[in-house]
Amino acid sequence: MQLLNIKDLDIQGKKVFIRCDFNVPLDEYNNITDDRRIRSAVATINYCLDQDCAVILASHMGRPKGEVSEKYSLAPVQLRLQQLLKRDVALAIDVVGEDAQKLAAALGAHEVLLLENLRFEKGETKNDEALAQKLADMAEFYINDAFGVSHRAHASVEGITHHFDVDHMAAGFLLQKEIQFFGKLLKQPVRPFAAIVGGSKVSGKLQALINLLPKVDKILIGGGMAFTFLKAQGYDVGNSLVEDDLLDEALKVMDEAKRLGVKFYLPVDVVAAQTFSEDSVSKVTSAQEIPSGWMGLDIGPATVRLYRIVLNNVQTVIWNGPMGVYEMERFARGSNKIAHFVADSYSTSVVGGGDTADLVQRVGVDEEMTFISTGGGASLELMEGKVLPGVQALIVEEES
Ligand code: AMP
Repeated sequence: MQLLNIKDLDIQGKKVFIRCDFNVPLDEYNNITDDRRIRSAVATINYCLDQDCAVILASHMGRPKGEVSEKYSLAPVQLRLQQLLKRDVALAIDVVGEDAQKLAAALGAHEVLLLENLRFEKGETKNDEALAQKLADMAEFYINDAFGVSHRAHASVEGITHHFDVDHMAAGFLLQKEIQFFGKLLKQPVRPFAAIVGGSKVSGKLQALINLLPKVDKILIGGGMAFTFLKAQGYDVGNSLVEDDLLDEALKVMDEAKRLGVKFYLPVDVVAAQTFSEDSVSKVTSAQEIPSGWMGLDIGPATVRLYRIVLNNVQTVIWNGPMGVYEMERFARGSNKIAHFVADSYSTSVVGGGDTADLVQRVGVDEEMTFISTGGGASLELMEGKVLPGVQALIVEEES
């Protein structure tokens, strides 16, 4: 799939609107704990500045649900951008209100304006036509560099593309890189090809699992989602996270894996706890002997050993979703060990999803991974074989 390329646009000295994904995690002091997404956008922003453009940046952060709230202000992003770009970045107090409009209209060459959190506007997630129009009216060119949100048909991602022709919009460098990487990976992976899938729920990843089945050689399940599969096999998983309405689907996935000859692995032991808390009593039990009332919050040591053996001969590995509640140190061990093993291997290692990216960074092995995607949901939808709504308008039509 070829996308409209920013380098083919005549943006010299023009006003450019760049949809970025600055949806970064913050700690309780409002410090950005992982600025990968901001750093990843710098190439596109600098390219535009080098072309003497006036640059308008827009992003969402969190889920303010259409309400203006200081908690979700992009102020921390503004500060980090200033450090990374080594220049002033103005922050509008609104998205398409008076302040944003005035600042955007007055913006000169080499100046950067950041709009406030797009989701302060109710119309953003509703793909509201009027909002899309107002955003589009701010600039002469539209660049989408927000891979992490390209699977959403939102006003700044999809609606806005209807206001620019192919000579006035394109994918930024990050979006290009992500789409090309996943395209190649899914088309011609070097085998054996394994997918490690974890995280909280089956529901969020069911479609991706189904789509991955014909492509991979092995699937290794971890995290909360493992318990729906274990329960579907008839095991008592105590109070572990289970989606009872998906037991049949879970069985179907396992049957389909068998039919296709895909090796499907579930944890054989877990770290079980009495309560969902860091200081809970916990112990390692086999997956079949979780005490009633206890919950599995991490994969156990035998599973780590098993998964290492299973991953030993793998040439390509996609990892989406932690193996346990990695935010709590006590339940982070399984994820940490798998992260080290994947990082130390010579396979092509692809990490997708905010949590998994955060995890490998915490473990300190992010530099050793082949590719860390800035989009969890978006990369899953690519694996589902979907064309992302935000990418649709940017696809170069092939001549017949
Ligand atoms: P997801 O957003 O679906 O990738 O899920 C990531 C979240 O899953 C993380 O916040 C983990 O704490 C959580 N998680 C992983 N393993 C478990 C588990 N065994 N039980 C409950 N939550 C889990």
